[in-house]
This record gives sequence, C-alpha cells and structure tokens, in this order.
Amino acid sequence: MSRVQTDAKLMDKLVSLCKRRGIIFQSSEIYGGINSCWDYGPVGVELKNNIKRFWWKHMVYLHENIEGLDASILMHPRVWEASGHVESFTDPLVDCKQCKRRFRADMVEDERCPECGGELTEARQFNLMFKTYMGPVEEEANIVYLRPETAQGIYVNYLNVMKAARQKIPFGIAQIGKAFRNEITPGNFIFRMREFEQMEMQFFVKPGTDGEWFEYWKEKRMEWYDLLGVRREKRRFHEHGPDELAHYAKAAFDIEYEFPFGWQELEGIHNRTDFDLKRHMEYSGKDLTYFDEATRERYIPYIIETSAGVDRTLLTVLVDAYDEEEVRGEKRVVLRFAPHIAPVKVGVFPLVKRDGMPELARKIVDMLRPRMTVFYDESGAIGRRYRRQDEIGTPFCVTVDSQSLEDQTVTVRERDSMQQERVAIDRLRDYLEEKIGDP
Ligand code: ATP
Repeated sequence: MSRVQTDAKLMDKLVSLCKRRGIIFQSSEIYGGINSCWDYGPVGVELKNNIKRFWWKHMVYLHENIEGLDASILMHPRVWEASGHVESFTDPLVDCKQCKRRFRADMVEDERCPECGGELTEARQFNLMFKTYMGPVEEEANIVYLRPETAQGIYVNYLNVMKAARQKIPFGIAQIGKAFRNEITPGNFIFRMREFEQMEMQFFVKPGTDGEWFEYWKEKRMEWYDLLGVRREKRRFHEHGPDELAHYAKAAFDIEYEFPFGWQELEGIHNRTDFDLKRHMEYSGKDLTYFDEATRERYIPYIIETSAGVDRTLLTVLVDAYDEEEVRGEKRVVLRFAPHIAPVKVGVFPLVKRDGMPELARKIVDMLRPRMTVFYDESGAIGRRYRRQDEIGTPFCVTVDSQSLEDQTVTVRERDSMQQERVAIDRLRDYLEEKIGDP
C-alpha cells in the first residue's frame, strides 16, 4: 500500500474532496462564505463524533478518576480577568500600509507585507477574545466573552465536581466544547479557525507530584494518536523553551504533526501549576483549597492540562489517511481511516438491481444498521460504488450476488487490500464488528 503523499496540492485536493463528499463545507457559502468558519456535512459530522467519542472513551470511561463536564460557553466576565485573558490573551498585530491587510507580527518573516511587499506598521497588541453583550442593553457593564478555551469552566467547577462525584486528588475533569478566538491570520482550511472545538482534560494533583503526572499524561496522549490510527513517524514532541511558555505554565510540550504546510501543534500538554486556582481564589474570594483527609494537609492543587482541538485532530486524520494509487490504469482515491473512526462502516450493494438481490441486500442493511453505520447503494457499476466508498474511507463493502441467493453468503471487500472474502450472512455482523474493533 502506498501511503506517501508529498504532493503540495494535497490541501487543495482535500478541500475539494471534503466538499464533494459532504465532509466539510464553507460556512454561509451561498453568501460568499465567512472567513475561518466551516460546517461539517453528513459524512464529516460522523467522523467528528467518532473522534470525540473515542477521546471521551479514553479519557473518561477508561479512567476511574476522571469525570466529565459540560460547562456553558458564556461565563462571568471576572473569570477572564482572573485567568489572565483580558490582560494577556493577545497576539502582536501589524497592518500593511499599502494593501491594509493584517498579520500576526510573529508570522511575518522579513518585516514586509507577505502579500504585497508593502511597509508594515509597528506591532500592537490585539485581544483575541470575542466580546458580546448580555441582556438588552449594549453597554460596557454588560460585556461578556465567548470563551477562548474550555479550561476555565472546569477550574471554576472543580470543587462541585469533586464533591458530587466523591473524587479525591489526584483526579481529572474532561470536557469537549466550542471555543472562539478572533485569530488574526486564520487559515489552512480547518487548522486555524475562529470558532472551533476543544477536547480538554484538567488533572488535579498534589504539588510535588506534578512532574510525574506531567510525564504520565504526555505519554498517554501520544499513545492515543497511535490508537486513533495516525502515523507515529509524522508526530513528535516539541518542548516550549522559556520564551514560548505561557504566563501560567511551568512546563509545556506540544504534540506536533507534519502537515503538508509544515510541523504544527496538534495538542498541548501543560503544567499550569496552581496559577489558575490561586487566581480564581483571589478574584472570587472563595476558598478553593483542597483538604487531604489522610495526611491532614491543606493545599492548592497543581493542574496538568491536556488540550487538543477536535477540528485539528480531524484535519490530521484526513491528511494522514489520504492516499491515491493507480488501479488498472485508473486513479483510486482512498481515505485509509482506522475502521473504528470511519464515518460509514460498511457499504451494502446488490450486484444488479433484479432477481431478488436488492431485497436480500436490504435485509442485510436492516440487520447491520442498529450496530453500525451502513450505506446502501444500488446505482452504477459495482466498481464505481466501491470507489465512492473508498473516497469516504468506508472500510468494508458487502455485495449480494447470484451465489448469495443460493447459499446465503456474500462477498466482503476490504478497502485497503481490495481483497474479497465470502462470508455467511448469519456470521456477517460478528465478522464485521470484530474487524472494526474499537481499541
Ligand atoms: P497557536 O499558538 O497555534 O495559536 P495555542 O498554543 O494558542 O495555538 P492552545 O491554547 O494550547 O493553542 O490550544 C489547545 C489546542 O486547541 C491546540 O493544540 C489546537 O489543537 C486547538 N486550537 C487552538 N486554537 C485553534 C484554532 N484557532 N483553530 C482550531 N483549533 C485550535
């Protein structure tokens, strides 16, 4: 199998495949689109849900000491003062004096406009939080922010969750939800968006044990991408040097992926110390210390954070899975997703539209549908039907032919090898479930 795809046009091909096959559409397309907002189509939403479900399984269900949470997007404005976002969630911004375009100063290379070569203004700080108003009066006192990260909803709820779930330190809280950032230079498809989704887990530990837990989560998170089916050789750790560390962090590693546009951050693992809880204690006036019954000690927990983007993970999965090959003189485009995250698990086809084949194929669909996502297709040559499923990464296609009517077996064609095997219909569901797996 050839999984080499060094083509610089890969991003263009992916964008057009995503549109054509209902994976991702430009938001508000009929109005000319809105920059950096994207909509997930019927196939894309399945892929996205599968990624989120798989993260949730590995973070929440497989850890007795991690609880889930779904906090609101709008929060008390003081939260963002305490977190440091009002003051320092900024990027340096430069304007081009000639074409008026804006750029992040740290992304401009030779102090000239990357678009027209014009002269740039001095850098000034631009806050990335979206502001809106709560209630019917648009005045300063009613400003609220769309959260730029999901983490703060976890911090302000940590005692609620701990008490309600009867957890003790060390324990974690996981959350998946939307975040908003008014990025200066969004782009690269869904890599940098202004509205996106995060999967964050905040792990509360005793100070002094934070180093160990940091290492633990760093390794765990790297492993998760193996299970997701993303190639290890395309991933690496990047350690933040002293000049890169965020205001809250004692140590930080990014998991990076080699995208067609270079190595870029996929997920951040941060040791946030007691910065956040300390600040929330200060700004709210509430006691957020933890009392350890066993040792009779009271302390402010340290926090190890794992912060990943849903959309960025989805882009990684797409880029990593995309492949093209020549099959009998024709180009075959195939998304080689790990079967457990594939949007459609199985395509079911009658070989021809007569002799009772569609009826039997429909029966098979009914049998499989409660357990997996199925796509029924009876139109066009069988080869074309296979190609359509390859393009959305469907791992298995089941074909009902004339032999099926005689002996109650079907052919199962596997996406990557294109090998076909005959399987008895009464064994089919178990056969597929076993192959699809869910590590
Ligand atoms: P960058 O330096 O690239 O702006 P960041 O370091 O600010 O990113 P974090 O605040 O650590 O990013 O966010 C955690 C994760 O959330 C990122 O690893 C990424 O997967 C995702 N993420 C952050 N910003 C965006 C965005 N604008 N669009 C899509 N995903 C994002």
